[in-house]
Amino acid sequence: MYHLECVSCGTTFPADEVIYTCKKCGHLLAVKYPLDTLTIKRATWNKRPISVWRYRELLPVTIPPVTLQEGGTPLYHLERLGKEMGLKHLYAKHEGMNPSGSFKDRGMTVGVSMALQLKKKSVACASTGNTSASLAVYAAKAGIPAVVLLPAGKVAVGKVAQALMHGAKVISIRGNFDRALEMTHDLCLSHGLYLLNSINPFRLEGQKTMGFEALDQLGEVPDRFVLPVGNAGNISAVHKGFMELEELGFIDRLPKMTGIQAAGSSPVVRAIRENLAEVIPEKNPETVATAIRIGAPVNAEKALTAIRKTGGIAESVTDEEILRMQRDLARKEGIGVEPASAASVAGIRKLVETGAIDRDEKIVCIVTGHLLKDPDTVIKQCEPPTEIDADLPSLISALHL
Ligand SMILES: *Cc1c(COP(=O)(O)O)cnc(C)c1O
Ligand SMILES: [Zn+2]
Repeated sequence: MYHLECVSCGTTFPADEVIYTCKKCGHLLAVKYPLDTLTIKRATWNKRPISVWRYRELLPVTIPPVTLQEGGTPLYHLERLGKEMGLKHLYAKHEGMNPSGSFKDRGMTVGVSMALQLKKKSVACASTGNTSASLAVYAAKAGIPAVVLLPAGKVAVGKVAQALMHGAKVISIRGNFDRALEMTHDLCLSHGLYLLNSINPFRLEGQKTMGFEALDQLGEVPDRFVLPVGNAGNISAVHKGFMELEELGFIDRLPKMTGIQAAGSSPVVRAIRENLAEVIPEKNPETVATAIRIGAPVNAEKALTAIRKTGGIAESVTDEEILRMQRDLARKEGIGVEPASAASVAGIRKLVETGAIDRDEKIVCIVTGHLLKDPDTVIKQCEPPTEIDADLPSLISALHL
């Protein structure tokens, strides 16, 4: 039906073999469907509710999936912010509206379903926060144990709260995310837990559906598709999905895949700018946008291809630019996102200002996670509530009326 294929040397592996990287050369794997023999009709898709599972013919799961009705997130036209930037066609797809509040749910509904399909008894991940929250949620739904490794002191409180409440075994390591991932990978290989980081090719299959949905919601292929980049799984996933639609003849061009990183954590931007064959890991990544605080993106190889093949761009934004856009989205559009999520739209603001992109473009930005994931960073930016005595004159005076 489908198989795994190495993106570097092309070696293929059977779909039911539990591997995360190529056994021959160590590079990343991708799921390959026999697209020429699949009979998929867009009309059939359009009859189903908009969600991850609308696109099930292009997903690897053959058992009844572990689902909490993820996907189907709103696509908003950013009229006010677009006008400020001189863009008529600026859109944001709010992935914070998923069950656990981030796009990771798209990957986990597929990933945890695959864990069951492959008869695995437990799951694990390393996480900057959202992956752990999402894995905890879907493992709970599946009724299997989950282990999550977090970089101590570097995870937003809302995400830790979710991982704990949904019953994952939460381990904080005295090290950064990149180290947590190495350890989790080793643990999974030595003890048979199923690894659900974005190195897992099945997880990315779920995530590509956000691109499918955006196309269906917009009614056409946007000129540009913009994502915050951490481990670079998401931008790779969406690009893969678009290539499949092109191969199926559903679309005739691809959006320019555009990746935005935080200035203190931007190895992909550097690789694109300096035209490097691979990224040079950043040893001490630092940014307020903890979800993209990743120095050695595991999916960099796929992401560089996605950006280069579509004529896209990689750009970085400072923490200040990220937080300013977080406030602008909240106050001018009513869209509440965590800092990393604002990076995509902040990147567009920068690219428009520097003249790198055309103002007539139709642009879809993914905003990746919900505001309440990281309440500490929100409260630090806002004036505290005004406390008054409980009488009307005090209220009127506090409101300067
Ligand atoms: C995981 C995550 C990202 C980064 O996605 P990658 O696939 O790792 O590039 C960005 N924003 C949020 C909110 C996330 O949770
Ligand atoms: Zn290989």
